[in-house]
Amino acid sequence: MAAKIIDGRKIASQMQAELAAEVEKLKKTNITPGLAVILVGDDPASQSYVAAKEKACEKIGIYSDDNRLAADTSQQNLIAVIKQKNSDKRIHGILVQLPLPAHIDTSEVILAIDPAKDVDGFHPVNVGKMVAGQKTFLPCTPHGIIQLLARSGVSIESAHIVIVGRSNIVGKPLANMLIQKSPTGNATVTICHTKTKDLAHHTRQADILIAAAGRPNTITADMVKQGAVVIDVGVNRVDDPAVEKGYRLVGDVDFEAVKEKAGLITPVPGGAGPMTITMLLYNTVEAAKAAAAKV
Ligand code: NAP
Repeated sequence: MAAKIIDGRKIASQMQAELAAEVEKLKKTNITPGLAVILVGDDPASQSYVAAKEKACEKIGIYSDDNRLAADTSQQNLIAVIKQKNSDKRIHGILVQLPLPAHIDTSEVILAIDPAKDVDGFHPVNVGKMVAGQKTFLPCTPHGIIQLLARSGVSIESAHIVIVGRSNIVGKPLANMLIQKSPTGNATVTICHTKTKDLAHHTRQADILIAAAGRPNTITADMVKQGAVVIDVGVNRVDDPAVEKGYRLVGDVDFEAVKEKAGLITPVPGGAGPMTITMLLYNTVEAAKAAAAKV
């Protein structure tokens, strides 16, 4: 029997409606959540991500402060802009779109963001709090995946979850979040990467399999246990002369074959992707609420 599809767009839009109601409440107390978005350079993919984030902010009533800097902007200048946003009371969250040009040290830039405004959850202070299970901004993509599972009625507690990928933005934080003693944790987690021996041996054990490798067809049907939940985080461009753009987006999972074996599965696009932006909005609203509580 074919798997049930987890509709990421629908879950994201439900969450965004909840957040819009929270923004409305904050506005009644004269607080408008504000997000500063900083983009260095003119990479087309980054430009489209930034545009999507700003549009989502506006849709739910968050003030979006757009900052475009030239590709040859110095690190010093970028950090000066961040410091200005750190002290701007209208701004509750700061997002520096990654990747940055090669002449800029990304870790120095992240360190310059006030941890109380680090809505991407990349500052080492917030990463440390996340690992220690303290309240903090959770990184958006892994947090979005957890919300997708929880809101689809998938039980995380005691599940064996296998993650393919160990990046700092997806695999590592996700594994940490899933092992926390919390209602959306308590899982047993295996992390796989390119040095893992016999990947299929591990993926076949998964009650929940999460693919974040960035390579099409990393997960084929023979690598999936019957009835497993499969979350595909990958976003890969593959050439397709049949479509106008000349390419289409696919995930890391062989969707057509795996959907015949899985119990639940996310599509690409329309699965994990829409949740990432939603969790950025969530963190910005949380930052505004925390700032309001301090006044
Ligand atoms: P990344 O930094 O390139 O990391 C990929 C990870 O996958 C690495 O740990 C790599 O192992 C592992 N890997 C790659 N091929 C593998 C294979 N054949 N077998 C086992 N492990 C393998 O990528 P990322 O930033 O985490 O992103 C992963 C994917 O998710 C990309 O397609 C990206 O576009 C997508 N993504 C989507 C969203 C969203 O909002 N939907 C957000 C972020 C990322 P090593 O460490 O050994 O190299």
